[in-house]
Amino acid sequence: MNFSPRRPALAAAGWAGLLALIAACGTPSSPTAPHADAAAWLAAVPADRLIDLSYAFDTTTVYWPTARRFERIQDAAGMTPEGYWYAANSICGSEHGGTHLDAPQHFARDGWTTDRIPIEALVAPVRAIDARAGAAADADHAVTVEEIRAHEAAHGPIPRGAVVVLHTGWGDRWPDLKRYLGDDTPGDASRLHFPGLSEAAARFLAVERGPAGIGIDTASIDPGPSQDFRSHRVLAAANIYALENLDNVERLPPAGATLIALPMKIANGSGGPVRVLAILP
Ligand SMILES: [Zn+2]
Repeated sequence: MNFSPRRPALAAAGWAGLLALIAACGTPSSPTAPHADAAAWLAAVPADRLIDLSYAFDTTTVYWPTARRFERIQDAAGMTPEGYWYAANSICGSEHGGTHLDAPQHFARDGWTTDRIPIEALVAPVRAIDARAGAAADADHAVTVEEIRAHEAAHGPIPRGAVVVLHTGWGDRWPDLKRYLGDDTPGDASRLHFPGLSEAAARFLAVERGPAGIGIDTASIDPGPSQDFRSHRVLAAANIYALENLDNVERLPPAGATLIALPMKIANGSGGPVRVLAILP
């Protein structure tokens, strides 16, 4: 299998790639941006143009029913005898819960592990595909090639190396397990209902478009009833990562924003908690 990055626009150079990308995606309001000074430009991005797409981790955070949930154990919190404050916690939980990244190795033995995903692939233009109509009509809706083509007809072709985010509207249900996952039985993942990506659309994206990653505002890229995770497998085989349980996707424009997704760098990880930001055009 060929693991060379399939993202020439981004792989070329770190900041240069990002800046070229930002320039291509939209015109920042500052007339000096983005060429002069990347740090100054980033520092000048107004808060209302930054979106946090990650949920916080606490005891209510949604995990896959069979996965170990998030735990924060307080190791210290208080004034020391020396008179200063000191707090520290230990944390524990599955790689696959809350807002997290699926590394390709999650479903492809030879795919990238979390630490091996090139950082160029984690900074990308983002497309947001409105899949709310299909999801509202069918809780198990699997986003189709036609829906992706309809997005492209309105907003232009999905660029190679982009992250494609599916907006199903399921974020409104977070963190109510019964409504978000379709079932709240601990340890049982056989009766889940939520929308995802169809295998055909996963194949279309992987083969025809070459995205860096696919994101969604549900617990999984595959729809809830899936037991064979075909979309995961198609994407993972092409070294395309997934971002699951994304927050605030309704604030993404269909095109023009830039995504920054930084997973915890777990050596040989199959995924991990991820902080996802979007910079609006
Ligand atoms: Zn996962």
